[in-house]
Amino acid sequence: MEDWQQLLKDSLTEPAQLPAHLRRDHTPLETVIATFPMRINPYYLQLIERPGDPIWRQAIPDLPELHDPVCISDPLGEEDLSPVPNLVHKYPDRVLLLVTNQCAMYCRFCTRKRKVGTKKMAISPSDLNEAIRYLHQTPQVREILISGGDPLLLSDERLDELLTRLREIPTIEVIRMGTRVPCTLPMRITEKLAAILGKHHPLYINTHFNHPRELTPEAFHACGLLANAGIPLGCQTVLLKNVNNNAETLRQLFLGLLKMRVRPYYLFQGDLTLGTNHFRTPSNQGISIMRQLIGHISGMAIPTFVLDGPGGKGKIPLTPEYILKQGDDLVFKNYLGETCVYPESGDAI
Ligand SMILES: *Cc1c(COP(=O)(O)O)cnc(C)c1O
Ligand code: SF4
Repeated sequence: MEDWQQLLKDSLTEPAQLPAHLRRDHTPLETVIATFPMRINPYYLQLIERPGDPIWRQAIPDLPELHDPVCISDPLGEEDLSPVPNLVHKYPDRVLLLVTNQCAMYCRFCTRKRKVGTKKMAISPSDLNEAIRYLHQTPQVREILISGGDPLLLSDERLDELLTRLREIPTIEVIRMGTRVPCTLPMRITEKLAAILGKHHPLYINTHFNHPRELTPEAFHACGLLANAGIPLGCQTVLLKNVNNNAETLRQLFLGLLKMRVRPYYLFQGDLTLGTNHFRTPSNQGISIMRQLIGHISGMAIPTFVLDGPGGKGKIPLTPEYILKQGDDLVFKNYLGETCVYPESGDAI
């Protein structure tokens, strides 16, 4: 068994296994995990310092998950947008393919909380065959986004086989993988895995870090292995109340990611996912945070702040407003709040 597989096996899966210093009170968390499973592997566990800290909140089940009066099970309409099981075809030219229900940790804010880590998301080999058949018959799809669960929880052999089969589809140009493993179980990224992934270029990876305390030497090493295999790395961060919803935390996170050769890609406004309402922030707060970052730090460190439209309407950028007036002159505010003028060319549009 590889080191990472042993770590996964040693994960805590029940609240009773939590060390005393990480329990906040005597709330009955068993009822929470009966609906939304718990898995905290020893690596991520040791990043937690105390109850309520930004790492604790991402990993430890909490009662508000069962008392969510606002959100819904499948806010992005993924089930309705699936022509075959576990393949979400929302945009014309790219699809989302879910290949496993397993993750190295079950994040409490997960957008696919309705099924990740549960039997509701059993993915059979025949499901995968059906998805691949669909892709052969749907040539307008030029990009596959492999997600789950976490695709890097598949074994090296199964990943290689999956990528080989996807590469055999002549109309697929780009393969993208979404994985939180560089953050939650960086030991999964081995030289061997990086070599396997590197055989299937052009392959992109978007990983998922939410807090600067997750940027450990182990994570740094994992990202380096992937980058050295020629895989461009992006990061999809979720804006989370009491985890990272302030400009200073995100500034440190995004600049730290750049040092790890990871380019911030998206900052997500929280989805309306049942059991995650206590993580949501007002969209204005995210826009204000973006205004505090844009121009003040490297543009390379600035992700696009996006809202994933309820009901599968697609991702919409939420951008601070800089334009004051559009006429013969474009009047706008710059990042310092100074009013500036740009004379238009005068050509009719
Ligand atoms: C987010 C998403 C994508 C990818 O969107 P990009 O803007 O290209 O990152 C593709 N399919 C589905 C269903 C998605 O939710
Ligand atoms: S790793 Fe991703 S898919 Fe898995 S629980 Fe966390 S957010 Fe959800």
